[in-house]
Parts: sequence; structure tokens; C-alpha cells
Amino acid sequence: MLLEELSWPAVTAIAKDLPVVIPIAAMEQHGRHLPLFTDSMLLGEVVRRAALALGDHVVWTPLLWLGNSHHHLDFAGTLSAAPRTYLDLLRDLIDNLVGHGFRRVVLLNGHGGNIVPAQQAVFEARQHYHERDDLLLLAATYWLLGAKPDVVDPTIVQNRMGHACEWETSMILHLRPSSVGDLIATEPVSMGMPFEPASQGWITKERSEPGHLGDPRRATAQKGQALFDVFAQDVVTFLERVIAWDGRSWKV
Ligand SMILES: [Zn+2]
Repeated sequence: MLLEELSWPAVTAIAKDLPVVIPIAAMEQHGRHLPLFTDSMLLGEVVRRAALALGDHVVWTPLLWLGNSHHHLDFAGTLSAAPRTYLDLLRDLIDNLVGHGFRRVVLLNGHGGNIVPAQQAVFEARQHYHERDDLLLLAATYWLLGAKPDVVDPTIVQNRMGHACEWETSMILHLRPSSVGDLIATEPVSMGMPFEPASQGWITKERSEPGHLGDPRRATAQKGQALFDVFAQDVVTFLERVIAWDGRSWKV
């Protein structure tokens, strides 16, 4: 069910135990070979597939294409909300939906820079509504829901998300090959950080001159198909857990 297609009386009439999912992505540089809208295109496709599978059991808001991408602003074309602005934006959206009576709100994320603000937004919102015992506020990132694409398809080399990498380039190759630039000209860039496991403040240009992290030359459209299959299935399985929640208890 798409929120944007409903009238306000229809929203008033909806069962408020239906999960409302806010897909959150970005508009930022993705190396020399992929378009700025990569994260929004990829999450949009994961959502399209999951929505087909889940039918009227989930309400989807429009995808929020503006993300926290300040670490990419040294590259032309990136549009970004600063981390605190973005946190407030997500908090406002959660408050809007809780105000309309919804009790299960999910931030479904498709961009690395949104992970911390999304987690903080649901945490802060839960503190704000601490007197409620009927709310489920969740932040989830589609590639961190447990899927192991490199196990499902052993031709996939990369085992975690990079940036404009084997995974993302493969998915764009599957979705819209005409949007992929010259892969032969790309060089592999390390995805590691020197001070792991510490969390290091970073900007993209100090890690990568072209802007990507990983090895885009390994990308194929066939890998992209496999990646979409596992990620969409993971999102469906996760949202089925949200649908099945009993509305009250803390169960692990
Ligand atoms: Zn990306």
C-alpha cells in the first residue's frame, strides 16, 4: 500500500498496526562510473520487489532521496543534509506517523551515511514516547539484514558493502546498464580503515581519489540479479517479523 496514493480519510481508516516503512536513501557521488542517484535507485528496486511480495500488509511512504552525505561533498553533484539536520528530519517523520496513530514505524535504509542517524532517530523517538507501551520503532539497512550474497552466489567476491563497488555496480548493471560508465578504467580501492575496529571520522576524498571503495571491475548484471534477490528476500523476511509482532511484548 502506497501512502502517497491514499486520501486522508483512507489513512484515517487504516488499521494502525500496519507497519509503515520509510525508505531512506541518498543522492551522492558514486565514483566516475555510476550515477549520483545510485543508492535511491537500488533501494527503490529492493522496495519495489518487497512491496510486491507483501501486498497490503505494509504501508510505504515515498522514498526519501535526501540523505546524510556530507562526507561526499568534495565531489560535484552530491546533495546532503548535515548529520544533525538529517537526524531532525527523520525524527519529524517518525513523529508525523506516530501523530497519525501508527504504532510500527520502520526506517528502511539504503545508504551507509544514514545508518547512525537512523539508529539515533528511533532511539531518541523511543525516549520521547517513553510512556507508550505499544510502539515498535526500527531502523534497518537492507544489506545488513543477514544476507550473505557471496555464499548464495560464489562468483561474488566482495563480502560486505563498499561504495560504487562490485555489489552496487552489479545491481545498477542489472537495473539500468546504460547508466554504467567505463569499468575497465576503474582501479580497485581498499575498503579497509587503518584504525579498525575503532570508528574513525572520515571524508571520502582521503580514502578514494575516484570516489568508489572496492573493485567495480568485478561487477556483472548476473551478480546484480543475485544481489537483488537476496536483499529483497531479507527485507521481506524482516518485515514479516514486524507484521507478526504482538503489539506489546519485548521478546527475543
Ligand atoms: Zn551507494
